[in-house]
Amino acid sequence: MRQLPADTVRLLSSSQVITSVVNVVKELLENSLDAGALRIDIILENYGLERIEIRDNGLGITATDAAVMAVKHYTSKICSHDDLERLETYGFRGEALSSICAVAEVAVTTKTAEDDVGTQYMLDQTGRVVSQKPSHLGQGTTVCALKLFKNLPVRRQYYANIKKCKEEFKKVQDLLMAYAIVKPELRLTLTHNKVVVWQKAKVSDHRMALMATLGPNAVAHLLPVHHQQEQPEILIDGFFPKPGMDCSLASSSNPDKTFIFVNERPVHQKDVLKLVRQHYLAQYPADSARSRYPIMMLNIAVPVSSVDVNLTPDKTQILFHNKEEVLAAVETLLVSLYGSGSSAEVPPVT
Ligand code: ADP
Ligand code: MG
Repeated sequence: MRQLPADTVRLLSSSQVITSVVNVVKELLENSLDAGALRIDIILENYGLERIEIRDNGLGITATDAAVMAVKHYTSKICSHDDLERLETYGFRGEALSSICAVAEVAVTTKTAEDDVGTQYMLDQTGRVVSQKPSHLGQGTTVCALKLFKNLPVRRQYYANIKKCKEEFKKVQDLLMAYAIVKPELRLTLTHNKVVVWQKAKVSDHRMALMATLGPNAVAHLLPVHHQQEQPEILIDGFFPKPGMDCSLASSSNPDKTFIFVNERPVHQKDVLKLVRQHYLAQYPADSARSRYPIMMLNIAVPVSSVDVNLTPDKTQILFHNKEEVLAAVETLLVSLYGSGSSAEVPPVT
């Protein structure tokens, strides 16, 4: 028996953290949001396989931090596990930049408010800075990842298929929609092969953000909902389809427009989704509605110390400490809107 070489260990663990184009986009976008960016441009070439570039106008990275920003487990966001109790950022593991470096060619260009001029850092596979040069960038950070999975030929080949490319691209668009909805103040653009394919301006609230993202027709069918309680502290805000609305207008055949957030983090919450569908679908004849998902958004705000977001590398699975109370609060909202007819059996969530 022998210990695996460090570069093998790095590649093995990094390729579990960074599994797809959408995964890279999510990590970099969340870094930009954590840096307070209000404008983020996502630029892809060849569906992200050739280039994934995320430009933000956030705080930037100081020269001291830049030296270690992509070294595994270096983070500016927490100091110890206890800090997760007070976590206010999307990131905390210090894994994304280092993992992306292990599977792509990465350069980071950044400028803080104090810097006279920006700097472009070229990183190697271990996340170390190998060279740097001045750059004419405004305040903020641009991370550019070229040739994703260049050293994982099976994976690169898997994603290079045009059908898969389009699937991934749709996932990127869905992801951006989720952040566009939950962050009304954020300006976003998505560019593919030099063509701007989607953009969202800064707007004032969630309703306008839904309008900008889903279009006025979808929003005309939505009603704002609100629930607030103490002990346990739960605050729910969202938009649900108006009761009795034509099902085909207010719902979608897959869950890509059922946006569920916990503390503004897009999550897969099967229990919440199941509850929502049960009450929503109970209004409709089984055959017309069975496979449908409501077009809606729901943000469940709970104290940070009462959720565990560290279940999966992509942080989309979470645990509530007070799950029963959270589900009861969501149910209260649903009952007040759709009545208590929740007997409808719905197919399992995919
Ligand atoms: P984490 O987000 O878990 O801290 P990352 O590997 O994603 O880990 O990033 C490492 C560090 O690099 C962050 O903690 C942050 O200090 C810095 N960083 C990364 N991206 C940006 C960005 N867009 N703007 C400012 N700082 C950034
Ligand atoms: Mg991060």
